[in-house]
Amino acid sequence: MTGITNQDAAARARAVIPGGVNSPVRAFGSVGGTPLSIVSASGPTVTDVTGREYVDLVASWGPALLGHAQPEVVAAVQEAASRGLSFGASTPGETDLAELVIDRLDGGIEKLRLVSTGTEATMTAIRIARGATGRDVVIKFAGHYHGHSDGLLAESGSGVATLGLPGSAGVPADIAGLTLVLPYNDRDAVRAAFEAHPGRIAAIIAEAAGANAGVLVPEPGFNRFLVETAHAHGALFILDEVLTGFRVGPAGWWGLERAAGETWVADLVTFGKVIGGGMPLAGIGGRADLLDLLAPLGPVYQAGTLSGNPLAVAAGLATLRLADAEVYARVDAAASTVSNALDAALTDAGVAHTISRAGSLFSVAFRDGEVRDYADAKDQDAWRYPPFFHAMLDAGVSLPPSVFEAWFLTAAHDDAALDRVLTALPAAARAAAAA
Ligand code: PMP
Repeated sequence: MTGITNQDAAARARAVIPGGVNSPVRAFGSVGGTPLSIVSASGPTVTDVTGREYVDLVASWGPALLGHAQPEVVAAVQEAASRGLSFGASTPGETDLAELVIDRLDGGIEKLRLVSTGTEATMTAIRIARGATGRDVVIKFAGHYHGHSDGLLAESGSGVATLGLPGSAGVPADIAGLTLVLPYNDRDAVRAAFEAHPGRIAAIIAEAAGANAGVLVPEPGFNRFLVETAHAHGALFILDEVLTGFRVGPAGWWGLERAAGETWVADLVTFGKVIGGGMPLAGIGGRADLLDLLAPLGPVYQAGTLSGNPLAVAAGLATLRLADAEVYARVDAAASTVSNALDAALTDAGVAHTISRAGSLFSVAFRDGEVRDYADAKDQDAWRYPPFFHAMLDAGVSLPPSVFEAWFLTAAHDDAALDRVLTALPAAARAAAAA
């Protein structure tokens, strides 16, 4: 052991990194206490700087579908690294990955451009939509998070929700004014927005299933309604699968809706997280005529020094090749085991709660009744979460450090890991009750 504590590590970091973190939710701002400083991870666990191991239900906020440091994924990255870290030129692997993703979505997208982050993917999708339609206004939903580009932070989920912010300083009012923020699952609000802004709306962007203000499940037919309404008004529909893509199923949330009989297709689809298997990789997919608006073919400019980085592509390819039906069945089963036990523990402790579930993603809200939209998500006894979170952490389980985040299971959560979670839940539920 090094003798270093998480407190030492955090203090050192705070002196040189804003808030001690390179992404805000890591700072434990809403749960209090000292963030973990992680030195390694393997399968279902992460290990902090003190050498303590935790069962991890953050999974790098989604990417670690197979569990951490999956040996075949690590080997693929090592092999790629031995051939060079970045070429700034095309590689056969990029085409392999594009073919694999297009094949997996089977009619959902025709072409794919790779970038490095989900933020870039949604930002570029919106630029394509504006370029294609010649219109400026974009509809997004309150509590949905699409990354941190200027136009998409208004009433955003994720860390913006955790910190209770309306948006971000530094975003020019003229840019924020081009984003209409509507309540999720509210068809009348969508119809009214198109009526109020005839000929001005370029696109609706929506998370395939909301997972950044806790889980917000789209009501049956809501995504279809969004596609149809956008098209009826000459606008495009951008499906944000950065979080859900390749996580809730082999073809993301869209694939689950297809399996349930839906036939709609989005104009543009954004990917991130699992597509890079833990490395920085994301993508914009969609109709060929729309993707071909991108430079060098078309007038919509987008570029990236590290776009399609060979190590990231190797990790993504290895991950997606391993992510077969059995992997998804394991993740689904693990999610059911944990969410059922969470439900039971909170019920036994007499804590009002609602668990929302979208595929293998779920979250808890400390309230009775359904959580349909961001207003519902905010209307809960959120103060019950910090003691619950810390009781779990003390018992060796690392949960997302915000009640507004989904819990992430992986295919590596075996019985031993799940038992540790289940054993910890009753005392945490009692801590929530006592709060
Ligand atoms: N869209 C969604 C739905 C997300 O969940 C996220 C990240 N949590 C993003 C976009 C942004 O991705 P990134 O953090 O890679 O920029």
